[in-house]
Amino acid sequence: MNDGMKFLSTRAIVLLLIFPSVVQAQKIVIAHRGASGYLPEHTLAAVAMAHAMDADYLEQDIVLTKDAVPVVLHDIHLETVSDVAKRFPDRIRKDGRYYAIDFTLSEIKQLKVTERFDPKDGQPVFAGRFPIWQASFEIPTFEEELQLIQGLNKSTGKDAGIYPEIKKPAWHRQQGQDISRIVVEMLSRYGYKTKTDRVYLQCFDFEEVKRIRNELGYRGKLVQLIAANGSGESSTDYRSLMTREGLQAVAKVADGIGPALQHVVIGPNNNTVKFTDLVSTARKLRLEVHAHTLRADALPAYAKSLEELLHIFFVQAGVDGVFTDHPDQGVAFVRFLSRDP
Ligand code: CA
Repeated sequence: MNDGMKFLSTRAIVLLLIFPSVVQAQKIVIAHRGASGYLPEHTLAAVAMAHAMDADYLEQDIVLTKDAVPVVLHDIHLETVSDVAKRFPDRIRKDGRYYAIDFTLSEIKQLKVTERFDPKDGQPVFAGRFPIWQASFEIPTFEEELQLIQGLNKSTGKDAGIYPEIKKPAWHRQQGQDISRIVVEMLSRYGYKTKTDRVYLQCFDFEEVKRIRNELGYRGKLVQLIAANGSGESSTDYRSLMTREGLQAVAKVADGIGPALQHVVIGPNNNTVKFTDLVSTARKLRLEVHAHTLRADALPAYAKSLEELLHIFFVQAGVDGVFTDHPDQGVAFVRFLSRDP
């Protein structure tokens, strides 16, 4: 009996036979930038911790170095999580920022990584998290992270998936690099090729999502991320993308969407949470919905705890997965949902 079957009691099986519409894919927990609520984001330590916490998928944000090596880093910039300003002060661009693409991998490997902070005042973004500048971390390459996850899968017998995000493909192209082609090739080399492989590839740029599917020949699962218009993630018009027609176009190339919290839940109204029709429209088009980002230490006004927020998203809104900085709590909640009644 496999893990999925174990949860099905006789009563549940009867219910599923009577109400086949309640049959849904297993809810998934995606460790957002690793177990980033507990260790500096995207470090190999945060990845290993998220794996030990039984997250279903581990997320990687990917940007390129000057020598075209994919590294796991949330921003195209370096100064919000590393000591780049101290170590390479003369490499600053006119806009006051340090870009990963201006540094070779060997230079990037010299940087010390820490908990995310505001470069203006040096203060951590999340005050209660891992102490800033404590211990020793570096920026991993995408390949190092794939090797770590596949190694952990072997040594633990688990099958944690990966959830890589191609960051700013249009910007990378302006800098002379085709990030999507490099990432898709590496995924293929590590066995992430088809829809049965444990991978979701994600991107905010709809033009690029279409290109990944139609031109680059990627056949694994693909997720169109959704942000607020004007957020700077891409030139995609998310407002029109979230209409029924927009989502129909998404469903032609992608397997799911990754909306932000506010695209699913309309804030508190007389203590009643209200929902957009995004999840129901997506479901009709057979698009999975993975919402971002649930954090125990940065809750929206309508939730008093991460557990309550998980309930609102998984049970009330009916999303298929969540990105969370606290994957242990997400996993505990999904296990609770899946228990025998
Ligand atoms: Ca991401």
